[in-house]
Amino acid sequence: MTNKSLFERAQQVIPGGVNSPVRAFRAVGGTPVFFERALGPHLWDAEGKRYIDYVGSWGPMIAGHTHPSVVAAVQAAAARALSFGAPTEQETQLAELLCQLVPSLERVRLVSSGTEATMTAIRLARGFTGRKLIVKFEGCYHGHADALLVKAGSGALTFGNPSSAGVPEETAAHTVVLDYNNIEALRSLFAKQGAQIAGVIVEPVAGNMNLVLPADGFLQALREQCTRHGAILILDEVMTGFRVALGGAQARYGVKPDLTTLGKVAGGGLPLGALGGRRDIMEKLAPLGPVYQAGTLSGNPLAVAAGLATLQLVAQPRFIERVEATTRSLVEGLANEARKAGVTFSSQSIGSMFGLYFRASPPKSFAEVMQSDKERFNRFFHAMLERGVYFAPSAYEAGFVSGAHGAPEIDATLAAAREAFRA
Ligand SMILES: *Cc1c(COP(=O)(O)O)cnc(C)c1O
Repeated sequence: MTNKSLFERAQQVIPGGVNSPVRAFRAVGGTPVFFERALGPHLWDAEGKRYIDYVGSWGPMIAGHTHPSVVAAVQAAAARALSFGAPTEQETQLAELLCQLVPSLERVRLVSSGTEATMTAIRLARGFTGRKLIVKFEGCYHGHADALLVKAGSGALTFGNPSSAGVPEETAAHTVVLDYNNIEALRSLFAKQGAQIAGVIVEPVAGNMNLVLPADGFLQALREQCTRHGAILILDEVMTGFRVALGGAQARYGVKPDLTTLGKVAGGGLPLGALGGRRDIMEKLAPLGPVYQAGTLSGNPLAVAAGLATLQLVAQPRFIERVEATTRSLVEGLANEARKAGVTFSSQSIGSMFGLYFRASPPKSFAEVMQSDKERFNRFFHAMLERGVYFAPSAYEAGFVSGAHGAPEIDATLAAAREAFRA
């Protein structure tokens, strides 16, 4: 079985042959890799080829693939029950652990995806404040709910436009899109429309436009404006949670949100999301309050078991620091190889997330991300893939390292890069 024949067959029954668009390799061209199994830092495809993985299922696999304690926890849970649709003690255990690790969480609700968490967070912000406007930032991704599939309109303060067909303009009109890291634009929006703003949602470290760090004072300005105008600050930590720091980006940057959304690592590779924060806001959720939210498979026993087992590994002393050091050695090594090959390139990391940029310095905005050399990235991506290194198939995604990656994988990656930067 080849990747090519599997992809052709998939396209006969699945739109584009994939169940989530970036998997189709449209950005980089070529045939997506069909995987069969994974262990630690490695993946094996349908042709039996082994890869070092820097995608980690887009973030969840921080413990490395098929970690024995995570697999054992899921197997034990599966043997007890696949689903009850009724409460279990393990859900409380996971909620307690989340509240302990992320101190801004006073109450938590478990859902089945990051999209559900953010969709519910903005409904809650609106329900709590009685206001309509949501503010987001260009280049941040918060899942695929209608109100968040919005891009900037023309002019700095105009309302957003749908970024997908099927999203009514009227829906997009209630979302304002600003430039990431632009504190002035934020202040000026709040000065004009602060009383109509229900909430601001932001990736505290942006990982869906490659990797963009928050500028000094940006997150603090968000907190200050939201507090002054009675708007809800939502930190979308679906990606950064348990990656940027054990307490999330909010712990690292010292910003306390009203609501936090989690997913990815929190579910350890199974479908799980979470939303949590201030008790007075969270208690507006049904059944206590008027904001409706529900889910047949919410708090699913397998997903809860995978999340608990993964977080217990991540919370071990020095786990986060060790993966952070591995990640730093990867990005520094890659920059070094690029310099030796004479390629315009920069890189940076925070926690176990990293960004690779075919431009002279790390970008600080969506516009700067767009200025990177996409063709050069695509050539590098395919040269690395050929040499058994799997990076995200797009120049606009962050990369991830796991606790199972060590010096042998970093050395092998740098050896491949030595050739790939010259390809
Ligand atoms: C992945 C992601 C989401 C969406 O999560 P899904 O589980 O894919 O629905 C939301 N926000 C951020 C920041 C993400 O990275």
